[in-house]
Amino acid sequence: MSTDQLRVGVLALQGAVTEHSGALIKAGVKEVVQVKRPQHLEGLDGLVLPGGESTTIGKLMNQYELMEPIRKMGQAGIPLFGTCAGLILLASRIQNQQWSHLGLMDTLVDRNSFGRQRESFEANLQVDGIEGDPFPAVFIRAPHIIEVGPTVKVLSHYDGRIVTARQDNLLAASFHPELTDDSRLHQYFVQMIKQNR
Ligand code: GLN
Repeated sequence: MSTDQLRVGVLALQGAVTEHSGALIKAGVKEVVQVKRPQHLEGLDGLVLPGGESTTIGKLMNQYELMEPIRKMGQAGIPLFGTCAGLILLASRIQNQQWSHLGLMDTLVDRNSFGRQRESFEANLQVDGIEGDPFPAVFIRAPHIIEVGPTVKVLSHYDGRIVTARQDNLLAASFHPELTDDSRLHQYFVQMIKQNR
């Protein structure tokens, strides 16, 4: 099917919602829905969970009754793409924290893993499944994945740390692919959505 029938949501509680929407449009999505309430999830073919502050976003997701329906979407095989805080929201385990948020992806993650002196930086990454030049990745107080389960595919490393991974319908990146003009990771996600339909 063509991308112009796709409806993709961006969780719009915090973070770079407009930038993600722009990147999805650039990747060929016709309709992007800003998700603030459970009814906005209806009929979505995929959902982006943007960066921000995972604790805050998690609280807001609970408050607006979005946690359970998004978890169900993920369990039903609808593609979800978590970037930065979104990667933390997807994880089944968070280092030094007793609870998780969506708990969908078989990963153990560490928040704020690149240290204060490197609060934000850009790096060129080789990402599995992304053709051509290295991917320009913007890291902002970025998490990384410490451990993955057997069904998780690691797509890229930075400094020996896992920063992009996929498990079936779940895609997670430590960095902010929406903050550069390069929409190849969003294209990769759109491809996942198309294959799922
Ligand atoms: N460090 C943040 C957190 O723990 C994530 C940072 C980001 O999304 N840019 O939620």
